[in-house]
Amino acid sequence: MSAEEITVESFYRFAAEKKLMGSKCSKCGAIYLPPRPICSACNNDEMNWVEMSGKGTIAAFTIIAAGPIPMILAGYNKDKPYCSGLIKMDEGMYFCAQIIGVDATHPEGIKIGTPVTVDFLERPIWHFLEEIYKKNRVYPVFKV
Ligand SMILES: [Zn+2]
Repeated sequence: MSAEEITVESFYRFAAEKKLMGSKCSKCGAIYLPPRPICSACNNDEMNWVEMSGKGTIAAFTIIAAGPIPMILAGYNKDKPYCSGLIKMDEGMYFCAQIIGVDATHPEGIKIGTPVTVDFLERPIWHFLEEIYKKNRVYPVFKV
């Protein structure tokens, strides 16, 4: 899609444009999400950005009541927990993200295999340093 370098910063710049981007190997066609700059299947370093379908299913999840500082700043706590999990993407790989649109206070109602689609939320940056987590970044999340 673009000759832009495969970096974390580029991944989040695309996310700010509401695009979930992976990387695709120019030799063997393997697709990675999160994107990798080097293909782990054939060691090729000529990778291209590829937009993902943004569709998948819940493969595993957990409920977090005592989250890291950025999620506390986003309003989550023991009275308002959030759901995070592994999404099995339609392209085959697994991606870890927050799952929204579920009742995290009643996890028995959240089912493995439920279809989800990508959405994007602005959050404090995940970091332990205050000068970094005081800034925001757009993250991919998945909604039921
Ligand atoms: Zn490859």
